[in-house]
This record gives sequence, structure tokens and C-alpha cells, in this order.
Amino acid sequence: MKMKALIKETPREGALMKEVDVPAIRDHEVLVKVKRAAICGTDIHIYFWTAFAQERLKLPMIFGHEFCGEVVEVGRTVKRVKPGDLVAAETHIPCEVCFQCNTGLMHICKEMKIIGVHTAGAFSEYTALPEICAWRLSPKTSPFPDPPQGGRQTGSDRRGGADRPLCGRRCQTERCHENFLHRRER
Ligand SMILES: [Zn+2]
Ligand SMILES: [Zn+2]
Repeated sequence: MKMKALIKETPREGALMKEVDVPAIRDHEVLVKVKRAAICGTDIHIYFWTAFAQERLKLPMIFGHEFCGEVVEVGRTVKRVKPGDLVAAETHIPCEVCFQCNTGLMHICKEMKIIGVHTAGAFSEYTALPEICAWRLSPKTSPFPDPPQGGRQTGSDRRGGADRPLCGRRCQTERCHENFLHRRER
């Protein structure tokens, strides 16, 4: 089966909409039909192919990592989610085998991968998501909520409201963009 996907294919500004194969899921993954995706600061770096993106991506890569969607298929070992569930994605994929992952510190996994940076992302009709990164949402949750208001933004974005463009703002919850910058500075 084919799907549309936004792909970073060449090492310069821009991105390409292409038809590609729907990803085949592995045993520990679920296939998500993407309902909604947001543009993160990381995606802006990828689009404009800044040094930040050049250091991290191997092209071609489907980007986009802030998203929610409906589970349409689950891998053989998946237990917590089932087809029909609405899930939000945790952007950071822990390796599950390193010292940190085995001592309850997955958030600082040494082999952390980021969806849409190291693995195919969510600016596509379907994406494969590891079960451990799939957060089940209430069926009453709408993937199409009202635009964020100023109070829900973080840091210097707090002054913004629904009338201000969201493009390029920081993630609201994962703050992965800031984590990236922090790591780079160390
Ligand atoms: Zn992000
Ligand atoms: Zn790990």
C-alpha cells in the first residue's frame, strides 16, 4: 500500500512530497494512521537544513515527530494498545537495553533515537511507532482541538496567543528542541 509523505531528500532548503510504501511494522511496533501533526522547531531546522539538522539526519528521511493518530495494526508482541486506539507519540525512543534504560532512567538513554530525525517520522499518512512510545488517549480526545492559547506555551513563547503563528515555536511538552540544543552545547 502507498501513502503520501513529506521527505527531506536533498541536503539543502526544502522538502518533497512523495508517494512511498506504508511502513511494515516490526513485532514491537504499531502502525498509526496520523490524524494530526505539529511543526516543531526541529522541523524548521530540518526544512532549512541548518547545521543542527546536518549533524543529525541521514537522508532521505520522512520528518515530523509531534503527532497523534489511530492505531490500525499492531505487532506480534504488542500488548497495551490495539487497533482503534487513539494514541499520542512520545518522540524519544529509548533503546531499552542500556544501563539507564534498565535502571528506570529511560529519559536519558545513551542511545536515544528521535522520531523524524533518526527514524521515519509522522509527516506522512501512516507511521510505525514503538509500543513503548504510544500513549493511549481517551476515545473522547479530539485530534482536532482549538488552537493553543498563550498560557499553554513554554518559555519565551508564553506571550503568544492563537493569533500568532505557531511555526517554529518550541514543543510544548517534550521540549526536544531544547534538549537537542542543550546536548549540542555540552
Ligand atoms: Zn519536537
Ligand atoms: Zn537505553
